[in-house]
Order: sequence, then structure tokens, then C-alpha cells
Amino acid sequence: MSVVRFAPVEGEYDERWLTAAERSRRDRLVQTPDRTAFVAAHVLVRECAAALLDAEPRDVVIAHRCRDCGGEDHGAPYVVGADLHVSLSHTRGWVAAVAAATPCGIDVQEVGHVPDLALSEAELAWAGEDAVRRTLLWSRKEALAKAGLADVGAFWEHDVRARDARIRDWADDGVVGAWVIAGPDDTGDPDDTGDTGDTEDAAGPVLGGTP
Ligand SMILES: [Zn+2]
Repeated sequence: MSVVRFAPVEGEYDERWLTAAERSRRDRLVQTPDRTAFVAAHVLVRECAAALLDAEPRDVVIAHRCRDCGGEDHGAPYVVGADLHVSLSHTRGWVAAVAAATPCGIDVQEVGHVPDLALSEAELAWAGEDAVRRTLLWSRKEALAKAGLADVGAFWEHDVRARDARIRDWADDGVVGAWVIAGPDDTGDPDDTGDTGDTEDAAGPVLGGTP
């Protein structure tokens, strides 16, 4: 059971849905487009969770818990009072969110510069200077890390060219994304996804020639 959504940032977002902690994190963002995308992503993740819970999005309370130290001011987000994992991501102009019964991770990125350090030697050889390939590989790693399946500090050790069955890709013009649902049988088929329409293409392989 999962809901996955990618959506453009457009229109008005009700920031009153955000917790005080989320609003203070938003306030630390300097640029208006980044603040808007932050709010949009936090609204979208509530919509995903609400769709699974049959609740109102504004009633969904998101909190954080670190898998390593148990700290509650950082770490993976979850829904308070429900056995539901969530993940969200924002880049300028696009947001993404997933809600699932098991740990999950999602990422959306503008196609652009990806530091060599984020990629393995084999990935660097394969992607070359292809910004789409490089950004998608990075996005897959971010999604894996958020799902607790990869170590952010060791991205160069992970080769994610081959499509792990748990990884799904998404792409739009100049933007790529990926999501991972760590559950045993649930890879977040588009059939399970929400209503943006953007997810219709979500499971298609983006990387032509993936080994
Ligand atoms: Zn921690």
C-alpha cells in the first residue's frame, strides 16, 4: 500500500498545515522559490498520507525520528499516530512525496551538476558528462538513503546503474526523480499512486542503455 506523487509547484499552499518545526525550517530558506517548494512538498506529503489513511491532509502531523540516534529533530519523517512512513523532496518548481506502510524514500532533482564524489567509478565511466544520467543516479541514491538502504557518506560505493526492483524512476523536462519503498512486496506500482497524472510515466526506465 503506497501513494507516490510528483507535482509541479503552482498555486497557493496552506502553510497552516505545517508544524511549528517545519515552519521554522522553512524560515531558514533564503530564496522565495525554495520556501514555496518547501511548503508545497510538505503539503503534498500530507495529501499522500491522507489518501492512505482516509483522513484530511490538514490533520496529518509529520514528525521525525533518526534511525541512528533516535533524535527527533532530524531523521526520517513519519506520521504521528499512524503506522505510516513518508518521504518528501523538493527542487525549484517540482515536489515529490510518498507514503507507505514500510520505510520509503523519494527524491526529485533539477538535472544539473552532480559532483564526481557522488558516483562510483563504474557509474562515472558509464555516465560520462551526461547530466541526465548523472542526476538520476544521484537521485536514486538519495531515495535509497532516505529509505535507510544506502549511506549518504558512502555514495561512491554504491553502483545503482542496474535497476534494483525497489527503485522506480520518474522524469519530466529538465527534472528527474526516483523513489524506493523498502517493503517486501510493495514497490509502489503506479497503480497504487495518486492522482497527479504525472506518475503515469513514473515507472518507465529513464536511463537508456542501463546495463
Ligand atoms: Zn541522529
